[in-house]
Amino acid sequence: MQKQKCHLKLNDQVEVITGKDKGRVGKIIKIDRTRSRAVVEKINIVKRHTKPSALNQQGGIIEKEASVDLSNLMLICPKCSKTVRVGNKTLEDGTTVRVCKKCDESVEAKA
Ligand SMILES: [Zn+2]
Repeated sequence: MQKQKCHLKLNDQVEVITGKDKGRVGKIIKIDRTRSRAVVEKINIVKRHTKPSALNQQGGIIEKEASVDLSNLMLICPKCSKTVRVGNKTLEDGTTVRVCKKCDESVEAKA
């Protein structure tokens, strides 16, 4: 697989563009750049059956987000409300921000 530069960051609003969760939208809650994977809120939920233990006497099913490949995700511009391509722009004070290539607005997640 080809390695591509990743524009995604923590707290970004993204859409899943392929796979079983295609078209679903969520926020990046964890990102692993070395493995090119991210965990997105409520996306790629896996059910894990847990056996009864001392702490959890009943056992049961735990639902947890599994990571997805970053190449399966696309950033959503807060202004356009859809997936967009992202470019970089250097501000007057020298900081670089990511901007939506459609509306030229910053797509940085608000702190
Ligand atoms: Zn936009």
